[in-house]
Amino acid sequence: MTSLLADLLTRPLVDPGRTAVTIDGDSLTRAELVAAASGFARSLPGGSGPIAIQADRSLRTVVAVVGCIAAGVPFVPIAPDAGVAEREHVLTDSGATHFAGDSAPPTLTALPVDLVGAVSTADPVPRPSDSETAAILYTSGTTGVPKGVLISRSAIASGVEALAEAWQWTAADTVAHGLPLFHAHGLILGVLGSLHIGSPFAHTGSPTPANYASAGATVFFGVPTIWNRIADDPESARALRDARLLISGSAPLSVRTFERIRALTGHALIERYGMTETLIALSTRADGERRPGWVGVPLSGYTTRLRTETGDVVPADGESVGRLEVQGPSLFDGYLGLPTATEESWTEDGWFITGDLAVVDEQGFHRIVGRESVDLIKSGGYRIGAGEVEECLRNVTGVGEAVVVGVPDEDLGQRIVAFVIVDDPGGEVAPTSHFGDQLIAHVADELSWHKRPREIRFVEEFPRTPLGKVQKKVLLDDITSAH
Ligand code: ATP
Ligand code: MG
Repeated sequence: MTSLLADLLTRPLVDPGRTAVTIDGDSLTRAELVAAASGFARSLPGGSGPIAIQADRSLRTVVAVVGCIAAGVPFVPIAPDAGVAEREHVLTDSGATHFAGDSAPPTLTALPVDLVGAVSTADPVPRPSDSETAAILYTSGTTGVPKGVLISRSAIASGVEALAEAWQWTAADTVAHGLPLFHAHGLILGVLGSLHIGSPFAHTGSPTPANYASAGATVFFGVPTIWNRIADDPESARALRDARLLISGSAPLSVRTFERIRALTGHALIERYGMTETLIALSTRADGERRPGWVGVPLSGYTTRLRTETGDVVPADGESVGRLEVQGPSLFDGYLGLPTATEESWTEDGWFITGDLAVVDEQGFHRIVGRESVDLIKSGGYRIGAGEVEECLRNVTGVGEAVVVGVPDEDLGQRIVAFVIVDDPGGEVAPTSHFGDQLIAHVADELSWHKRPREIRFVEEFPRTPLGKVQKKVLLDDITSAH
């Protein structure tokens, strides 16, 4: 492993004129980025706490992040459109003392970020130790209040290098995505990953199919909602034929989206699985099999195991579901200010408990079944994975998307309720109770009687996080509070 951004920061005059980053059409070369970031690093007061960075889609965000890395000061990306409570939570919880970006809160010292700077011989080179915290990243808040995850410099560098090995990602690539810049996916892997590997990074602007189509990159990152939209726009999808890799992650990718993208672009999507806490742990490989519905194998240097609630190892038979545990070089150093949560997330023998349920086969291929807290439904004495029922519903013509939850039920313990978005361009299917009954019967036939939803609710949209993850807890709270 090399130090984080070592090549960029210690050898800025190698390829100085090469584009490092482009956002909404404006670019910085490697030399310009290092000069601006060095200027920002020099402006950081000694002994400051973490630097909150207003992580809007701008070159300033990247300059501030790289400046913090150069200076060895932890940064905390803040979602530009975060609500008052979330912003307050992140600012207070992280202990940030300074704020880079417009609209600094009165309690923090504002730091200007200039895009023009000069490299001076007194510039900081990355001297900080690799074990130091590089970033405090907040989880997406899909299942509860976002937790501050401490990520070291070495976790980022080794995590990116493991991905580069699996994806054959090199400085010859150009990377593009349209994701937010305040999560691990968009910021750490997309932007810092590119800067670490040396591949120019371009943000597409809002993640529309047309913006992806015109980005001209070799490697595209996206989340399933983006790939879905691209599949709905064949002309834009076809423009991605010349790419080298199309990659999906952060949420479950349906088999149908995988197949539609394959038909239009000729590319089997690369899938990868990770968390803020682990960065990426599993991925399909550039030179390996890409199996729809499966997220691939452990990256080099990572190991996984699946265990039951009582701690028995689950067989690698491609069927048996277990709790996914991970070991690897890019794991986090704990949740900020939450010693109990930190302790509870590790087994006694040193494995990180992801909270996700998975299946593994003999070749080490993993399928993510869902989250233990919301996707494992216990109904009438059976244990049912929400994902299996969702996938079954999605295969019905007229179903655009389906989300399944277990609602508390006096009789069954939990009762399966499905939320369905109808998507039928032919206009043959309507969100009626008749169609609902057909869907219930379909699941009963295809899977089994006890896996059928007891109720179908047709909706226009699901509550989602900024990365497009469905907030099942919000759906559940809505149902339970209505009773
Ligand atoms: P919170 O922890 O606050 O509830 P979150 O878990 O959604 O939010 P992230 O760290 O952004 O926050 O997301 C990690 C989770 O995303 C994983 O635990 C997993 O459930 C899901 N995930 C990531 N990649 C995939 C994938 N390829 N397929 C299915 N699920 C995925
Ligand atoms: Mg999580």
